[in-house]
Amino acid sequence: MKLSARRLAPALFLCLLALAACAEKRPATEALAEPAPAPPAAEPLPETVSPVSIPEVTPEAVAMLDAPPVVRVLVLESRRTIRFRVPEAYTVGMDAVSGVSGRIERGGDLSVRASDGEIVLADGRRKVFGAKSVFVAPADGEVSTIDGASYRGGFLFVATRGGVAAINVLDIDEYLKGVLPSEIGYLKDAQYEAFRAQAMAARSYALSKLGERRGDLYDLNATVMDQVYRGASSESEAANRAVDETRGLVCAFLGEPARAYYCSCCGGHTADIRAVWPWKTPYPYLYGVRDTVPGTAGESLCRGSRHFRWTAHWSASDLSAVLRRTIPRELRAGAGDLGRILDVRPLGTGRDGRVAGLEIETDRESFTVQGDRIRWVLKPDPGSDAILRSTLFNMDVSRSGGRVASIDVLGGGNGHGVGMCQTGAIRMAELGYSGEQIISHYYPGVRIVTLYR
Ligand SMILES: [Zn+2]
Repeated sequence: MKLSARRLAPALFLCLLALAACAEKRPATEALAEPAPAPPAAEPLPETVSPVSIPEVTPEAVAMLDAPPVVRVLVLESRRTIRFRVPEAYTVGMDAVSGVSGRIERGGDLSVRASDGEIVLADGRRKVFGAKSVFVAPADGEVSTIDGASYRGGFLFVATRGGVAAINVLDIDEYLKGVLPSEIGYLKDAQYEAFRAQAMAARSYALSKLGERRGDLYDLNATVMDQVYRGASSESEAANRAVDETRGLVCAFLGEPARAYYCSCCGGHTADIRAVWPWKTPYPYLYGVRDTVPGTAGESLCRGSRHFRWTAHWSASDLSAVLRRTIPRELRAGAGDLGRILDVRPLGTGRDGRVAGLEIETDRESFTVQGDRIRWVLKPDPGSDAILRSTLFNMDVSRSGGRVASIDVLGGGNGHGVGMCQTGAIRMAELGYSGEQIISHYYPGVRIVTLYR
């Protein structure tokens, strides 16, 4: 299946490449020139860092595409039947690009299910359309409803293991309007520039994912796997305005949309992607920055968050119960009895303050956990599936009789820590920084360009 975004991608890449070639680049290592971050400690953080000034940023006024690219977002999968409501007339066909097979003048409550290798769209007992895949586009830009949530754009229904999947096909700015409130919340007027920064970051992230799943029928998951997307039901007037005002603005690095990750609270220093996700592409704008700017007297921008500092404690039996569950699942090792936990040792701390790895020694085996995966292995509570808030922590291990008696952790931040700190971005907005300056602080070395009109 080909969509217009696919065809536009090479042109987009070349234009951005040309633009980046003549751009003066900030050194990618600028963020690393800062002294090492303070380890998680009692507030306030020591004032060891002079904030780097953030210049005004003017987006490059060059448009390359005439219209927003289209994205395909996996909203539901493996459903036996999907209840689908289209309020007015709609068109139906096999997919979004090969043409319309028919126009139905009357909308209403419809159902979609898989039957004998075919997707069947029905109005009550009447079959409206059946094919290998079914694409429905409401006429006149109406929103349709699935499971009580409304969505802009059209829907592609395909068969998946155990049922039907619904893929929302819509232009990227319509998609972003359903992302912003879920990802950064409903902000106050004084925090509006954080919405603009979030719009540019989320747009860049989504564009950087187009074409990555070449064999798949969708580009993005509607969950934390990519960006949480809840459709038109979740939209807010201010977030929509931020998407419209930043129309076409994209963070670009070396001619490509930046993989602009972001997280809830960085704990005082954003993460170095090389330590957190050593298995992912180490884009240099994701090496981590001290989260402070002029106007905060050296204090971290996100220190007002309830996640800024936190503690966790494991007794020997809690630790054993947690690791017995998580090690086989996350490391595909140690099935059966792990034995006694003899030691847990952090394997170094990066310049971003995060623990790069953990070595877990039992009387049967040793296990090594790398980067962000630590959060899934060292879960804080044996009775819950919640993961550890971050890998920015100091660990105090008490030992007794040659084994671990308890572990105490003093941690900072919430989330992987890579890229923009949303709590810090909101604080920057309150301090009067623009969305472009927020982007410039969190993704050093990226340029903001206009990609489409
Ligand atoms: Zn932060």
